[in-house]
Amino acid sequence: MRALVLGAASSVRRGGGPPRVSLQEIPRPRPPAPGWVVVRPSLTGIASADLALLRADEAAAPVGPRQPLPMVPGSEVVGVVEMARGTRWASEGQRVLVEPNAGCVIRGFSPCSRCAAGETELCENRDRLSSLGTAADGGLASGGGWSEAMLVHEEMLLPADGISDQRGVLGVALATAIHAVLRWNRRGDRVAVIGSGTTTRLLVAALRRLHPDVDITVIVDARGPQRSGRRRRKLPNRLAVDERGVAGALVELGAARVWRGSPEQIVDHAAELVSARRLRQGMPLPVLDRGLDAVFDCRGTAASVTLGLALLRSAGTLVVSGRAARLELDWSALWARELTIAGSGGFGREPAGWRTFAAVREWLTDATFPADSLVTHRYPLDAFETALATAAAGEAAGAIKVVFEDPSSPLRRRRLAEEPEEPAGDDGDTPLLLASTAARVRRDDEAQS
Ligand SMILES: [Zn+2]
Repeated sequence: MRALVLGAASSVRRGGGPPRVSLQEIPRPRPPAPGWVVVRPSLTGIASADLALLRADEAAAPVGPRQPLPMVPGSEVVGVVEMARGTRWASEGQRVLVEPNAGCVIRGFSPCSRCAAGETELCENRDRLSSLGTAADGGLASGGGWSEAMLVHEEMLLPADGISDQRGVLGVALATAIHAVLRWNRRGDRVAVIGSGTTTRLLVAALRRLHPDVDITVIVDARGPQRSGRRRRKLPNRLAVDERGVAGALVELGAARVWRGSPEQIVDHAAELVSARRLRQGMPLPVLDRGLDAVFDCRGTAASVTLGLALLRSAGTLVVSGRAARLELDWSALWARELTIAGSGGFGREPAGWRTFAAVREWLTDATFPADSLVTHRYPLDAFETALATAAAGEAAGAIKVVFEDPSSPLRRRRLAEEPEEPAGDDGDTPLLLASTAARVRRDDEAQS
């Protein structure tokens, strides 16, 4: 089968350069044990985590999971079960969402303390080799999202009934967003989200849904003036950034307002919003007497974290969802204002006990949840260079979520001919662990504008 293969470690260039992926013919994955299934991806997203992996960023995966190379990237998958043996509910031909969390049990270990607590995303054995072989470790033998087949355990699947491919491929990004919102132990009403990509947008929509009365400001440009032009030059059809379109879309998702500008200008806007006094001209940003209750940083750069810290009131919370690595920061506000910093990088089971992906499935099935306009570009695997350049350029290329698509899947063609994708009610065909979040979710998310 065809797959986009990320080469061995020595061929991955640190700090940029062309990503070392190539389209190769590799053997189809084979299930290593009962319960494992082969999924043919219909759509697979290109995530910032994938791009970090390609660049060999230090932020790619500092504490695991182990990434044995060569491997096939791609974990944002909606697809069709192609082979299922020894499964409880997953059957061949079934459309599924993939939750990319492989904990101890399905990899053949006795549960570590985190897996025993249901937090498989924080598994302490992620770097250890599975006795089931490399197929269970994410190596080449397991395939991957950027290929024509991948190996997944049934426990990592959820039925995609009633969820279109273009919504289903957002499952991982939505789970990441929901988890980030829940990392804020809410105190207060005013929050800001820094970013502009898929996770930022879904985070705004998730905030609106979980906290319908919260006031959300989105800060789309906090990186300072020097944005990388290196990757943008490769784009075939570079567009000017449609600032009004971006702002309009964010307001539709639930933002009360959208700010652009220098960090100093953003702090001025915030001072006006919360009627703050400027105490002094601090370094590098002015110090205000009050500020926002929480800031969600989807960028994780020195500029965005510095801005986030400056915008918070005393005892406010900064949730860092972006892939921050080594940053040079002034931490004085952290202790002087008793701020809380919460990291958010995954998802799995939320504090109330429900599975993040159960909420994902429920929200994506609900046609009123705004997620239809986020997939902006689809490419076949062989156009991967353009696809990766477009995803890396993001807003500068008019791109939000860029995906690989499988136009030739016979299963997908047959399914489309038989049953058009329409939202359907819950038919009871739900796997174990699927707990409803309905009681926690308020439905008046459209009341704000
Ligand atoms: Zn574990």
